[in-house]
Amino acid sequence: MANPSLLILAGDGIGPEVMAEVKKIIAWFGTRRGVTFDVSEDLVGGCAFDKYGTPLHDDTMAMAQAVDAVLLGAVGGPKYDKLDFSLKPERGLLRLRKEMDLYSNLRPAQCFDALADFSSLKKEVVAGLDIVIVRELTSGVYFGEPRGIFTEGNERVGINTQRYTESEIARVARSAFELARRRANKVCSMEKANVMESGILWREVVQEIHDKEYPDVDLSHMYADNGAMQLVRWPKQFDVIVTDNLFGDVLSDCAAMLTGSLGMLPSASLGAPMANGRPKALYEPVHGSAPDIAGQGKANPIACILSFAMALRYSFNMGDDATRVEKAVEKVLADGVRTADLMGPEGGKPVSTSQMGDAVIAALDASL
Ligand code: NAD
Repeated sequence: MANPSLLILAGDGIGPEVMAEVKKIIAWFGTRRGVTFDVSEDLVGGCAFDKYGTPLHDDTMAMAQAVDAVLLGAVGGPKYDKLDFSLKPERGLLRLRKEMDLYSNLRPAQCFDALADFSSLKKEVVAGLDIVIVRELTSGVYFGEPRGIFTEGNERVGINTQRYTESEIARVARSAFELARRRANKVCSMEKANVMESGILWREVVQEIHDKEYPDVDLSHMYADNGAMQLVRWPKQFDVIVTDNLFGDVLSDCAAMLTGSLGMLPSASLGAPMANGRPKALYEPVHGSAPDIAGQGKANPIACILSFAMALRYSFNMGDDATRVEKAVEKVLADGVRTADLMGPEGGKPVSTSQMGDAVIAALDASL
């Protein structure tokens, strides 16, 4: 059987620094677990613009379409701020998401016990939290037509259109139900069916897909405004939340911050199943290129490492190894190893990006 294939696009700023630690883990799987990944590498974002004059070369796009999974670091930086919109580093990432049709965005909010004090909420509300928000990523109000700023009479009017087809709702609902079956088997669907027709259709389609295809999953519905309140009040009531693009944008940022540092948050964007039955997929940390700390060895690589763990679980059917990586991260944090972003008011000496990666490798060794 062919080796699992991975395209690494480390990108700009701290992207290559955090990705270097993931590469150590990929090598560890080769030597210690006998799993060899066919890894290719290329450029995305500002570095791709510098070399190719475009934030994503067509050849890179073709490579992304051909592999089992893409792992991305981060893109962007002040050097590129003045570029034309079409050439900005972020356009490379958006092109990947669009052309791979990655409609299902998974954003876990997991609170490691050792970091529970970092949340702005009380420790007992967040300790042990483990939920995933599934956000529809390629449709809804960010894409619907008509859109624009028009003149009506003697004033301007700004228009965006919330639009969802049945099939767009159905496919992201399936993605959430599939995910729930691998977890605590609970899905809460969030919309505003009380005031939006698109919300009424959303609720109906999610219920239909549930009744026909996933009757074993525990499904509930909630208005998204109540959902925001419940996320802050008692987030542990949820397992998987599925919602549209706009509500998902807001709710996933809210849920993510329950857990503390931006340097801890992984994500996956999944599309339709490929010939091997696994979804098209791009994995990336939620954070950006952090120009303020780039090149200083200060970046926390855990978000990128946990993104690779998601790839193991969702693209490579290696759930046990994904858990092994997550447990290694948990152990390192419990041992008090901290990059600068995780230092509490009590202070102490932070470790560097590469020391954090080495600590995770040591914990992986200890897990065998
Ligand atoms: P950012 O996420 O890069 O940084 C925000 C703050 O968090 C900074 O203080 C940074 O030092 C810190 N931080 C982020 N990741 C960290 C890590 N792993 N370890 C320790 N600290 C970390 O967001 P920003 O400053 O708003 O944006 C910087 C650039 O990144 C911009 O060009 C922006 O467009 C781009 N960006 C890219 C992505 C992406 O690639 N997906 C996402 C967001 C922003």
